[in-house]
Amino acid sequence: MGIMTSEAYLASLAKQKPVVYIGGEKIHDVVHSPYFRISLEEMCKFYDWANDERTAADFTFRSHLIDERVSFWTHLRETPEDVRRMIEVMKAQNARHFCSMCMITGLNVLWAVTYDIDRARGTCYHERLKAFFRELQTNDFRYCMGVMDPKGDRSLAPSAQADPDLYLRVVERKTDGIVVNGAKLHTSNAPVTHFIFTCPSGVLTEADRDYAVSFAVPVDTPGITYITRPAPGPLTSRTLENPVSGHIGFVECLTVFDHVFIPWERVFMCGEWEFTKNLIQYFSPYVRMCKGTCTSARTDILIGAAALISQYNGTARASHIRSKLTDMMIASEIGWGCALASVAKSVMHPSGIPIPDSSVANAGLYHSRLRFIGFLGTLQEIAGGIVTTMPAETECLNEASRAYIDKYLKGVDGVPTEDRLKLLYFIQDLTASRFGGYLTASAVCAGGTPETNRVEVFRNYDLPQKIRNVKELCRLA
Ligand SMILES: Cc1cc2nc3c(=O)[nH]c(=O)nc-3n(C[C@H](O)[C@H](O)[C@H](O)COP(=O)(O)OP(=O)(O)OC[C@H]3O[C@@H](n4cnc5c(N)ncnc54)[C@H](O)[C@@H]3O)c2cc1C
Repeated sequence: MGIMTSEAYLASLAKQKPVVYIGGEKIHDVVHSPYFRISLEEMCKFYDWANDERTAADFTFRSHLIDERVSFWTHLRETPEDVRRMIEVMKAQNARHFCSMCMITGLNVLWAVTYDIDRARGTCYHERLKAFFRELQTNDFRYCMGVMDPKGDRSLAPSAQADPDLYLRVVERKTDGIVVNGAKLHTSNAPVTHFIFTCPSGVLTEADRDYAVSFAVPVDTPGITYITRPAPGPLTSRTLENPVSGHIGFVECLTVFDHVFIPWERVFMCGEWEFTKNLIQYFSPYVRMCKGTCTSARTDILIGAAALISQYNGTARASHIRSKLTDMMIASEIGWGCALASVAKSVMHPSGIPIPDSSVANAGLYHSRLRFIGFLGTLQEIAGGIVTTMPAETECLNEASRAYIDKYLKGVDGVPTEDRLKLLYFIQDLTASRFGGYLTASAVCAGGTPETNRVEVFRNYDLPQKIRNVKELCRLA
């Protein structure tokens, strides 16, 4: 099949019976639950783009694994050109739609890790992963990434925790598979996908060998429970007040694995703790490159909104507005430039995929994400306090109060008050709503915190060479 339609996707979800807690109740049918409306709308977009001839070139690719066209989600990027193309699509799409699910690149890096393990240990993880890719591609399935563990006391290793289940672990090895127990946290979107894909969240030592586990199973596998929070938007979106949050956002899950059986053919790592270092080395540049791209694209949205509201307010020519817009543009370009540079400096892994440059990818994301959260405030400053004090939609839609609103919330002549209101509600949705908080958290924490960016830059930057240069300049031995 290769490419599914959104109708077929919804029909396939309706056949699944995941155990989901949401809105105070236990449900199995996510397709008809109002709590999943926004997430489903988001997921359907990718199927629609793949089937629309205007966007199909960006969202479908030829796969040599099944010799068919496959989707953006399941495509394995095998050349730097392919990876660059992927982030170009992300940059363009996220500047209008906010998200291209950059976490999906995590699956690609297991391609390299399983290859490394097999070569060193004679295991067959890589062939299993290939078979899994073929299944994803053939059926155009979706998956979620279960990387982050609950982690308990952050100062302790997984095996040193008071409760050994605070990191997902293997509790039994059988002839036909393994049994895992524990949980993953922050699993975006899990119940609206077909598979949950897990891997360790950090570098492990020998004492933690049972925590070195990676696998993929259907989301409704017995023993898995999703304790789910709805997307940040409202259950019933308003016409004016939720132009973004009414349509964009994901459910988030605490995903519990209560003695879940995983057949060997779906296990991609089991005990090989030494290779968790490789996993993080490959995962970090991929996720940070994508997240840097996304942050740049989201900054572009803030720039567009800031420029337009300054036109509507009559401040577009003020030098401080121009200066603030320029700062935003510079941050966006740095984030984007570093993402591109990380691809340009990528190194081919023997498994056949490029690994982007980690130092540049992390530096770009570090810079752009911290600027982004400041720019949410800059946008409010440029738009004015009206962003949070403006009349609610109910008053705009009430004819009696509407006349006053039209008169007193007008900006420059020539721009209808309604247009200014629409833009102000948009800015409110972005910066002063629950969705705005989600955007901030997404910039600060998703894909690893800024501190992890600093660690990665320090670790990967060629400091010894710089010291040698200075010694040479100083004519030191
Ligand atoms: C919107 C969103 C979507 C996400 N989607 C996914 C997803 O789909 N799948 C997934 O797996 N994850 C997902 N994440 C999780 C994300 O990767 C994590 O939030 C991120 O890696 C930080 O981990 P944490 O939240 O557990 O924070 P913590 O690890 O609790 O960190 C909190 C603070 O403590 C510090 N800290 C932690 N440990 C130590 C230590 N040992 N020593 C010193 N300082 C320490 C950190 O630097 C940070 O400042 C998502 C997050 C968000 C916000």
